[in-house]
Amino acid sequence: MRPCLHCGQPVAPEKTVCPHCGTAMPTVWPPPPDAAPPSVPPVRLLTGRRGGDIALGIVVGVLSPVVWQFVSLLFPVHGDLLVLYGLFFFVALGGYLWARPRYPVFARSLGWIYMTGVALVLGAVALCFVALSTMYQHH
Ligand SMILES: [Zn+2]
Repeated sequence: MRPCLHCGQPVAPEKTVCPHCGTAMPTVWPPPPDAAPPSVPPVRLLTGRRGGDIALGIVVGVLSPVVWQFVSLLFPVHGDLLVLYGLFFFVALGGYLWARPRYPVFARSLGWIYMTGVALVLGAVALCFVALSTMYQHH
């Protein structure tokens, strides 16, 4: 049964006209639901919780240079620090690019740690240059 749109009386589904008031009944009832909104794929999480993925990103971001240091002891790059950290840059970037489409929360957290690390290193280098230049100016 469905209610008549005009008088509100219940009308059998097979009727095309309301038997109470004669109003034509819509042939399709109920009206088709609006097209379902495009389903947003749920954000995939490594740990199952957003906070857990953020924490994991921070831990991985902080520990990966340390782990890299230990790995480099097993496979020494002839003590060349520039090669060592140049390679780490690409490994870290590759890891970030791999994780970004798969685990966006983790990747964003990891990316922030790496960017902070790069900013700290660049800041330290800049400070060294400033310190050196002031030293030379004073002598
Ligand atoms: Zn009616």
